[in-house]
Amino acid sequence: MNIIQHNFPRTQFVGEETTKRQIVLHHTASGPGVDGDINWWMSTPERVATHFIIDREGVVHQLFDEKYWGYHLGLGQKHFNVAKLPWTNLDRHAIGIELDSWGPVLPHTDGQFYPVKWDGRRYVPNATCKPVKYFYEYCEKNRWKGHLYYEKYSTAQLNALRELLKELCRRHSIPSAYSNDMWVVSTKALRGEPGIYGHCSYRFDKSDVHPQPELINMLKQL
Ligand SMILES: [Zn+2]
Repeated sequence: MNIIQHNFPRTQFVGEETTKRQIVLHHTASGPGVDGDINWWMSTPERVATHFIIDREGVVHQLFDEKYWGYHLGLGQKHFNVAKLPWTNLDRHAIGIELDSWGPVLPHTDGQFYPVKWDGRRYVPNATCKPVKYFYEYCEKNRWKGHLYYEKYSTAQLNALRELLKELCRRHSIPSAYSNDMWVVSTKALRGEPGIYGHCSYRFDKSDVHPQPELINMLKQL
């Protein structure tokens, strides 16, 4: 598949070669284009980054080689306490993939949907951003992490993700079987068991990725 390689500086990821056992899906909580995400990571001294970002047009961007690793899980002992496990460095063995997407959105009085921002008391639509065209609505009693609306992962994005996951699972001998427990904090994920997970499989406070039916269907068909 066609992958755009970026010249991501070596100081921004960990240049240690490790085997990869897990693939972790995230979303960026940002607007169209990957440059802002990459520049943000480069603006901090921390070596936080994922190997791949897939933009809304379905273009796959690679920041650094899969044999290296970066911090994208943000796990401390408190996250492992849930499963009564000691902290281990799961980032070392995880391939990170970001989907370029806003995450939660809200309708504004103008009838359009905007990404959310926290005003100190509650989430409000951030109308200084461009409105979001495509969103998915969860049922009231089935809100995802407290939010009713999320920007939709695009068809092009999910098609590209499918091809990338197939390729990565094959290359690193990672099982691609779908498991419904990726949507809750999972002992399997925290134990470092091989497979495909979301950031939400490791941390209750993470809303990425969200269980959009098209994403679930794609994962089931891998
Ligand atoms: Zn994440």
